[in-house]
Amino acid sequence: MSSLFREMPGDAWESVPLEVLSQMIPAVRLVRFGTGADAGVALLARNQAHVSVNGQPIAGGLHVLRHRDEVLLGRQRFWFSAESTPVVTVYQLREGERRPTCPVCRGQVKDGEQAVRCPGCDRWFHQIDNAEGRRKTCWTYAATCRFCRHPTSLSGERAWHPGQEENNG
Ligand SMILES: [Zn+2]
Ligand SMILES: [Zn+2]
Repeated sequence: MSSLFREMPGDAWESVPLEVLSQMIPAVRLVRFGTGADAGVALLARNQAHVSVNGQPIAGGLHVLRHRDEVLLGRQRFWFSAESTPVVTVYQLREGERRPTCPVCRGQVKDGEQAVRCPGCDRWFHQIDNAEGRRKTCWTYAATCRFCRHPTSLSGERAWHPGQEENNG
């Protein structure tokens, strides 16, 4: 998963869908490819004159975006983030899928159990916190995913946004 931010007047940023780029300039497009931990977003530009990434023209009209890349489209600035927000869902085994084993407790993630799929590496973790008092909070056990370091905060806020970049220099 990933997201795109657009610079707004007055040092502000807003989260926008990937399609925004081709709406601005049809010769430029962001394309999602791959799945899970191998998923990525590529920037394609037929007319390279309009677009640069991190201040550089994109070679061959193709650039695979990396976390925190700055994209300049005309005079509009964008930032790309490879992170997304983890959410608690009710796990249900889908056809053709192998039942996941939670990396923290080594137990299977069973149908109907609350779980989080790590947005960074796609692994499933228990996150059971029921009113009946049943708790198995494997996902939030540590502050970051032990495999890919994705933050486990469930506050709904993105782990990184462009404003943070400005503050950190
Ligand atoms: Zn577990
Ligand atoms: Zn992970």
